[in-house]
Amino acid sequence: MRPLSYARFLAVILTAVPALFPAPVAPSLTVVLDYEHPHSRPSFEAIKAELRSIMKGSGLSVDVQDKALLAPNSQFGGLVVFKMAGHCDATPIPVEALSDERGPLAMAYTSNGEILPFGEVKCDRVRRSLQRILGQGMPPDRDRMAYGSALGKVMAHEIYHMLAHEPHHTKTGITKEALSSRELLDGSMSLPQNALREIRRKLERDK
Ligand SMILES: [Zn+2]
Repeated sequence: MRPLSYARFLAVILTAVPALFPAPVAPSLTVVLDYEHPHSRPSFEAIKAELRSIMKGSGLSVDVQDKALLAPNSQFGGLVVFKMAGHCDATPIPVEALSDERGPLAMAYTSNGEILPFGEVKCDRVRRSLQRILGQGMPPDRDRMAYGSALGKVMAHEIYHMLAHEPHHTKTGITKEALSSRELLDGSMSLPQNALREIRRKLERDK
């Protein structure tokens, strides 16, 4: 057997170490979107990017899947499902409809007081909320990205309720009681520390 050079020895050790001490696998969360109508790919990708960015500090590895494209018998770690109600494709909605829309943008379903991992996003309401600021004059690509990010934000808010089993709101950040049109457009919304703590605590308990 040929003696190993020091460099080769080091390379062998470095290759072997991950096998001996595998990196802890982050718990996963798959967010499945059940669209009522056709949607645009750029806004779907923007939802995924926004959710991953907001959920970064939770310790979860987040994936987003379109229910229509799921393979039969798909398996998941953690799972939450959103019905994507209305038109989620960033098609402009007539401006005259804006004034009377102030209802919820998304919701988590409950049963006997328990928050379920199922929710609903009101795509048309999120769209109208953005149009209050944007009007209808944005270039289509930027528009779809902004729209997807806003949908990701309202979903992150509901995912907090679902994962932490917490019906109450924080004073700041994406988990406060209401999000304004300006906040939906702003790129800097995040999960506040106390919301992250609640999610981690719940995940730890469920291990
Ligand atoms: Zn809420």
